[in-house]
Amino acid sequence: MRRTMVAGNWKMHGTRASVAELIDGLRNLNLPKDVEIAVFPSELFIDRVINGLEDAPILVGAQDAAIESKQGALTGEISPEQLVGAGCKFVLIGHSERRLILGESNETLNRKFAAAQASGLTPVLCIGETLEQREAGQTLEVVERQLNAVIDEFGIDVLASAVIAYEPVWAIGTGLTATPQQAQDVHAAIRAQLAQKNPEVAQGVRLLYGGSVKAANAVELFSMPDIDGGLIGGASLNADEFGAICRAAGN
Ligand code: PEP
Repeated sequence: MRRTMVAGNWKMHGTRASVAELIDGLRNLNLPKDVEIAVFPSELFIDRVINGLEDAPILVGAQDAAIESKQGALTGEISPEQLVGAGCKFVLIGHSERRLILGESNETLNRKFAAAQASGLTPVLCIGETLEQREAGQTLEVVERQLNAVIDEFGIDVLASAVIAYEPVWAIGTGLTATPQQAQDVHAAIRAQLAQKNPEVAQGVRLLYGGSVKAANAVELFSMPDIDGGLIGGASLNADEFGAICRAAGN
């Protein structure tokens, strides 16, 4: 049985004041017990968020981590080991903003994926097609290729300790959401792809949907059989909206 997860990606947002307000709002939410909830603040605020949410049923992840698991001479980077020491449980790997704007290659992402797992962080591997690729009918080919980049290097079993987030790039931050059926079709195809290699891993791995999820569309998306929760960007910056999305994921 897969535990539903709702993850909030705060991206490069937040000031000392707005983060304090968001922590307060999150602490006061009525949250479902059967949903695993995590937020991914800017690394600048990770420590503060971990302390602020100490008594709340909300875990904390990082939006990125270094290619080396241990601390060392790598200016500007934060190692997975440091993140674990701070109390982080997850790390986003391969968000489309990092793939497309910062040019992170599959090779770099694989190094980050392995370093994260070596330190005990659970990678949330983000995959998804651009609008151009969808319109060219390449959606399944693209997500399969992105997943295979990891599987070909490390084997399918590493996905047993990871989460996969399907995020169509055209739906991220645009207000356009994949319909529940569009998202379900891709999720089912991903699970089928994994099942050919290891049915147990395919059944156990959580597949989150991301792309303009809000309280208003969450119930329908989360009711799909292969959608095990969501990765939420913009809507996770509002504690009440995020709480409503988390409740939509509960049973
Ligand atoms: C994201 O950044 O992962 C995301 C899904 O953003 P949004 O919900 O704002 O589309």
